[in-house]
Amino acid sequence: MATIFSRIIAGEIPSYRIYENDRFFAFLDINPLAEGHTLVIPKVETDYLFDLEDELIGDMMIFAKKVARAIDETMDCKRVGMAVLGLEVPHAHIHLVPINDLYDIEFSRPKLKFSDEAFRATAQRIAAAIR
Ligand code: AMP
Repeated sequence: MATIFSRIIAGEIPSYRIYENDRFFAFLDINPLAEGHTLVIPKVETDYLFDLEDELIGDMMIFAKKVARAIDETMDCKRVGMAVLGLEVPHAHIHLVPINDLYDIEFSRPKLKFSDEAFRATAQRIAAAIR
């Protein structure tokens, strides 16, 4: 069965899409630690990030860099933190989280809630800053 992220890529499940190319897709996490918390995924369905082929994981990092720069420019943060967990969704992904301190990337803390409109606006702002 396709993962929830493959169904997002296929457009079967809606997402707050930020950017994509032929191999990767970036969209907002719906249970964010911070405004602009983004997930970067490969379009090929692989469970564990570190099982990806060298070239693919390398190119995924370059793709994530482009998205991270756009998050940096548009969100109120000192840095964009990066994390790999994969304990919930078995489709490789990188979390990009705008942070001002360590607590901002503490995954065990309560997640933030935003309206559909706010999520859309955030995704659009980040997308508009992609170079
Ligand atoms: P993990 O697999 O532990 O890295 O966590 C998976 C992440 O995917 C969590 O932060 C979820 O909030 C996020 N997530 C799950 N389903 C969706 C979805 N439909 N759209 C956006 N983010 C999602």
